[in-house]
Amino acid sequence: MTVNADTTTSGYSWRSLPAAQQPEWPDSEALRAVLADLETYPPLVFAGECDQLRDRLAAVARGEAFVLQGGDCAETFDGVSADAIRNKLKTLLQMAVVLTYAAKVPVVKIGRMAGQYSKPRSKPTETRDGVTLPVYRGDSVNGLEFTPEARTPDPERLRRMYHASSATLNLVRAFTTGGYADLRQVHAWNQDFVALSPSGERYERLAREIDSALAFMRACNVDPDEFRTVEFYASHEALVLDYETAMTRRDSRTGLLYDVSGHMVWIGERTRQLDGAHVEFAAQVRNPIGVKLGPTTTPEEALALIDRIDPNREPGRLTFITRMGAGRIREVLPTLVEKVTASGAQVAWICDPMHGNTFEAASGHKTRRFDDVLDEVKGFFEVHQALGTHPGGIHVELTGDDVTECVGGGDEIFVDDLHQRYETACDPRLNRSQSLDLAFLVAEMYRN
Ligand code: PEP
Ligand code: MN
Repeated sequence: MTVNADTTTSGYSWRSLPAAQQPEWPDSEALRAVLADLETYPPLVFAGECDQLRDRLAAVARGEAFVLQGGDCAETFDGVSADAIRNKLKTLLQMAVVLTYAAKVPVVKIGRMAGQYSKPRSKPTETRDGVTLPVYRGDSVNGLEFTPEARTPDPERLRRMYHASSATLNLVRAFTTGGYADLRQVHAWNQDFVALSPSGERYERLAREIDSALAFMRACNVDPDEFRTVEFYASHEALVLDYETAMTRRDSRTGLLYDVSGHMVWIGERTRQLDGAHVEFAAQVRNPIGVKLGPTTTPEEALALIDRIDPNREPGRLTFITRMGAGRIREVLPTLVEKVTASGAQVAWICDPMHGNTFEAASGHKTRRFDDVLDEVKGFFEVHQALGTHPGGIHVELTGDDVTECVGGGDEIFVDDLHQRYETACDPRLNRSQSLDLAFLVAEMYRN
């Protein structure tokens, strides 16, 4: 027997509020049937895991830990392969080791993975050669191919998103607990990167120091479980509220609501309206919540978001993910951080150095300069250092593959190279070596 979506979810407060960026499903009967099934599916994550991540993020808010959050701009169903998932995870783990050593605090590892299938867009339609079709909204909604069939929203894709997320999370859990993520192995991969990278010489000292720290611990017979397994969390933008609502469950321990589609969910820059459904949804679920803040965010908006989502001022509950642009961050961020800190709220601050630095190359490719990405992170550190607050982490769009989507980096990619391996379904990602460059260069910021 299936459960009628309307009877189980209509009581949720966010259902009656305006929701921006929602797909226009052509067939509401088909949608209802998929949502009713989703409501009966097992949770992808457990409430207790979400609570544990909230505890980890509380340490970030207190200045005692650092966040590394990363993955594709848009995951795709075709991208659910062992190789792609392993390469992404491997890249994140390699970055995390470097950052842990440099920051001397735990690094909370969070993938933009196992659920990042829905995209907010600046326009509802796209026109090519005089033909206008609905814009691509992510594999959860429609297909990237520019045909009327692919671009028509299909609710069956929500079911595929669930299964794709489930398969991804299953492999991630196996990799992170099954020995693949052993610290010594990850360090050996970093040594390979340093040996092959054109900037390797610059990174060598840090890699050698990590090596000797590991040798010292080996000599002391230190071999804790933490060296062999890794705590890893899944996150995505909570955008398509039909899906997130169908995946919302009451925790049997406490009776509280959790979105069991991912450990952490965030609200994007385009859907953080204070009177909108996304903010109300975020306010009602107990998962740790991220909110993206762009360069036009006023301190009043930030404070109102805190009142709505974190009324009890609970460290770890709310993370502000700022995405100001390299050119704006030093001017815009200080007032925000100052006013939020003065309010007594203990949010975690994370820097997304990607979304404020996108431009279109002459070839038509959407791209980002590695140097702009790095400069925004640098600005983020400078602002927090000047205010005595904690630069809590970075949020990056990356892949473990050798794509050519962002320009620059040690293994320099030029604008003319972009066409070679431009594979993203949405925004340009740092490739594997650019991601590792970023980790080593952020590590240097800690030492300066
Ligand atoms: C994203 O993270 O892919 C995104 C769309 O970000 P923002 O909401 O900050 O624009
Ligand atoms: Mn993006």
